[in-house]
Amino acid sequence: MDSEGFREAAISSIDEIISYFDNIGTRSVVSTVEPGYLRKLLPSTAPEEGEPWADIQRDMEAKILPGITHWQHPGFHAFFPCATSYPSILGELYSSALSGACFNWICSPAVTELETIVLDWLARMLNLPACYLSTGPTRGGGVIQGSASEAVVTAMVAARDKYVRETTPMDLSEDAHDDFIAHKRSRMVALATTMTHSSTKKAAIILGVRFQAIPVRAEDNYALTEPVLAAALADCRARGLEPFFLTATLGTTDTCAVDDFAGITAALEAHNAPDTPGEVWVHVDAAYAGAALVCPEVQTATHIARIARFHSFDMNMHKWLLTNFDASCLFVRDRNWFIQALSINQAIYATGSSASTASDGGLVTDYREWQIPLGRRFRSLKIWFVMRTYGVKGLQAYIRRTTKLGEDFAEWMRARNGLFEILTGPSFSLTVFRVKGQTEEESNARTKRLCEGVNASGKMWVSNTVLDGKFAIRMMTGVRATEKEHVEAAFKLLVDMAGEIVKS
Ligand code: PLP
Repeated sequence: MDSEGFREAAISSIDEIISYFDNIGTRSVVSTVEPGYLRKLLPSTAPEEGEPWADIQRDMEAKILPGITHWQHPGFHAFFPCATSYPSILGELYSSALSGACFNWICSPAVTELETIVLDWLARMLNLPACYLSTGPTRGGGVIQGSASEAVVTAMVAARDKYVRETTPMDLSEDAHDDFIAHKRSRMVALATTMTHSSTKKAAIILGVRFQAIPVRAEDNYALTEPVLAAALADCRARGLEPFFLTATLGTTDTCAVDDFAGITAALEAHNAPDTPGEVWVHVDAAYAGAALVCPEVQTATHIARIARFHSFDMNMHKWLLTNFDASCLFVRDRNWFIQALSINQAIYATGSSASTASDGGLVTDYREWQIPLGRRFRSLKIWFVMRTYGVKGLQAYIRRTTKLGEDFAEWMRARNGLFEILTGPSFSLTVFRVKGQTEEESNARTKRLCEGVNASGKMWVSNTVLDGKFAIRMMTGVRATEKEHVEAAFKLLVDMAGEIVKS
């Protein structure tokens, strides 16, 4: 494809993308294809001769879009949103054009420098404590990762390295040192709660350390509290285990609960005070709800200032902040914790005189030392475009609008409390509810039928969870295209179908 061909193809594709967004509400939210549908539609080998763009583009609508579940659809109420927006798409377009594996500063100075700047902008927007700024007092800073799962692995590697370093005597012989560390690693445990996202458990599996999920309770709104954490730490100590890592969540996946940051600090202080050797590293997973911190009222309500004593914080701009996948923003209180754990020293990566001078002189950030992969994309560009296009006020307005939709939905649910029971929320646009029944079994069966029924309608899509044996529907209203009329339509469908189910 030459420049002229690209111009024509790009104009035609952009027109089609605009039309897709303008008419998305007319499509079925969830794809209805059968497994293996695409193999039947495509040849078994790649074409020998190149094909015209028009033929390729035609297959997008004919063959690919039927197999797409439309996460940008106004009736998408499942899981959490997976954002996009026009400025974000433009950022991806430029990033694709400037494609490079920008692991070092010299590999494209703008890629590194823009990332540091926009993550400082983000930290200020979310009102994170100053220790998470690259210019802050503790040499902190932010780095863009592919996902919240990748971020927690990165944080846990750094935490493990720091813990072992701080708790291993210096005066051991080489053999004794290796034995000591091998034994220590077998006792180290990463903590989370039963509501923490599974990525923390997966990180522990990857690292080969123990994992313990602390049960949280309905009466605490499924959040981690001081007495519950204190009891878990005491239990670890009694079993000879060494807790070195804890994930605290701001907006859990099932119910959007916020763990009690003050209570966590108090429990940890009694166990092993922050800033002492062998302290427990606290990673805040704010993958979804962290976006709402753009609003000052959420900063106050979640006590975000308290995370100044913690170690890392991660939020996905690609969930609820109008930036497309992937843009997981990980902040650390002291960047040396990442660098000490993940730095590699291989001659080839110091290629070029200004690269080695700048890197060796500590003049620049080499983000390859803050992450698992080596190469990295220009992901800060789309974040920069989004922040500049919407401004802080535009992002606040979007979060407040979609939060309000969740509050409206919950209010309508409460007005139908003969039919429905809200189990949690509304919290960050998420309400978790079920259909009432004479017994738990009846309620579970009715709620399951309702969930399947509305999802089969093609008009909306919700996800489900189970809380203390109660089957429940999660209704989320955070998608950019979702307006009040769509939530009203969804509520009406839920009421009508639930009414039918109860009658039958
Ligand atoms: N943490 C929380 C609270 C989540 O809700 C999710 C996914 O929804 C994740 C982590 C995992 O996110 P990712 O897909 O970016 O790894």
